[in-house]
Amino acid sequence: MNQRKIIFLGTGAPDATKYFHSSYLIQENETRILVDTGGGAQILRQLEQANMPLKYINHIFITHKHTDHILGIFWIMRMAASKIFKDEIPPLNIYCSAEVAEIIKTISRLLLKAKVADLFDDKILFHIISDGHKTPFGDWQLAFFDTHSKKIEEYGVKITFSDWKSFITLGDEPYNENLLNICQNCDYILHEAFCLESDREIFKPEKIHHSTVKEAASFAENLKAKNLILYHTEDKTRDRKELYANEAKKFFSGKVYVPDDLEEIEII
Ligand SMILES: [Zn+2]
Repeated sequence: MNQRKIIFLGTGAPDATKYFHSSYLIQENETRILVDTGGGAQILRQLEQANMPLKYINHIFITHKHTDHILGIFWIMRMAASKIFKDEIPPLNIYCSAEVAEIIKTISRLLLKAKVADLFDDKILFHIISDGHKTPFGDWQLAFFDTHSKKIEEYGVKITFSDWKSFITLGDEPYNENLLNICQNCDYILHEAFCLESDREIFKPEKIHHSTVKEAASFAENLKAKNLILYHTEDKTRDRKELYANEAKKFFSGKVYVPDDLEEIEII
C-alpha cells in the first residue's frame, strides 16, 4: 500500500512552549525527508513518540538558520554519530545553504564530540542548495527555491511525487509573489500562520514577517492550491485547530488542515 504522509513533529512558532517548533517528516514508503529540526533536544522525544528511529532520519532539509529550525540537528547528530561511524545506520545527508552548512560545522566543532566533525563530508554529507536547485530523490523530484525572505536567506522546497501530485513548503515565510510559477496549482501547500486575523493587534505578525490565517488562506486561494496546511503558530489560542480552520475556510475553498504535534496528514 502506498503510504504517503506528513508527520508533524512540531507546529509552533519560536515563542510557543505548548507546541514543539518547526519540524515535519514527509514520507512515502521508504523515501523520507525531515524538514527542519525544531529548537533543541525535544526533537529526539518527538521522533521517538512518532516511532521514527534515527536510522530513518538520514535526509534532512534545513530551511534557514533560525534557532527554532536548526538547533535540533545538533541533538540528532550527537545521538546518531557513533551509529553512523559503525555503519549501523546510513550516512546522514543534510540539504541546506552554504551559510547554514558552515554554522552547523562550526557549532559542532565547538560543542560536540570530535567524532561528529570527523564524519563531516564523509558520512555526514552537506548538499549545498541554491535557488532553482533540483534533484531526484527516490521516486520524487525536489526543487529548492529562495523564499525571498525579507529577514534572512531562506529556502523552500517543492516535492513532485511520481503521480505528479505536489507538496510545497515555504519554510516560515509568507508567500511572495515572485513564487507564483512555483506555487500555483499545487496540491498541498504548507504555510505559516502566526495568529488569527482577529488577534492581529495582539501578536502583530507583520512585524516579524509572518501571516495571519486569513492572509495564508487568501494566498492559497489565489494560487488555486487544493489543500492548505497551517503551522508555525502562537500557542495562546485554545482550540487552535477549530478556530484556525474556521477562519481559513472563509477565504480558502480547498481542504484545510491545522495539525497538532505528532499528527499525521495523508497526502492523497
Ligand atoms: Zn520559525
